Amino acid sequence: MTVVSRFAPSPTGFLHLGHAYSAMFAYEQAQRANGRFLLRIEDIDQGRSRKEFEQQIFDDLGWLGLKWPAPVRRQSEHFEDYKAALDTLMSMELVYPCFCTRQDIQSDIQAAGGAPHGPDDLVYPGTCRHLSNDERSKAINNGQAHAYRLDIKKACMSAGPLIWQDEAAGRISAHPERFGDIVIARKETPTSYHLAVVIDDHLQKISFVTRGQDLFDSTDIHRLLQKILNLNVPQYHHHPLIIDKDGNRLAKRNDSLSIKKLRQSGATLEDIRTMISEGLHD
Ligand code: GLU
Repeated sequence: MTVVSRFAPSPTGFLHLGHAYSAMFAYEQAQRANGRFLLRIEDIDQGRSRKEFEQQIFDDLGWLGLKWPAPVRRQSEHFEDYKAALDTLMSMELVYPCFCTRQDIQSDIQAAGGAPHGPDDLVYPGTCRHLSNDERSKAINNGQAHAYRLDIKKACMSAGPLIWQDEAAGRISAHPERFGDIVIARKETPTSYHLAVVIDDHLQKISFVTRGQDLFDSTDIHRLLQKILNLNVPQYHHHPLIIDKDGNRLAKRNDSLSIKKLRQSGATLEDIRTMISEGLHD
């Protein structure tokens, strides 16, 4: 089987050393296996994505010595693919519309005396799961903004036990129910990161996913969606995150270690490689 790896940045800021590591790792993985490396632009968040960041991503990756085939898949150009998957989940009655605002969720959690913490955040208390079909139709017909949430218990029941493979951590038994009823399509877009990523990895025939350790837990959700939607299951490699001198994770909002800045200050590719190996942290 041909190895197909990918780097899938969101153009919401400048790439930093962690992204460079991830991209180069995926690239080298494909090179070694005589496979293919793809670049995908994950720009479903239209409010935060910017063309100038996308352009800088192309520029930085080219400077790092990476090559990828055109055209690049841009998620914002494929909303119909995600909508089709959402329709399938709807027809299976595994998703429900959620009309809650952040404020509603907070008050419901407070009223319930708290909520368990999932890997991402507090678990959604399930308010809209209990609405009747009538109440749902009425609210939708009234034009009330709504997201779609996955009924995680129902989805897990229908999927059965789930396993995925991580290069470093080995065989992982997935427990997506820890997340509670996650948003599968946001109020403003017919998808979410979780849905778009599994659809794209499937459509692009990705066999090898490289990404930061911060997404390790999310892979449980991805595995669940793959099972329900009958999608390909890639091999995963979650790499350690790069940390700065003070032990903090690099973030897009702090661009001091962005590839752009480092290049401007005269760093060479060799310097970048050294900084990456010094910042790698288990
Ligand atoms: N777009 C995500 C990010 O920039 C990466 C998603 C992935 O690799 O699965 O953090």
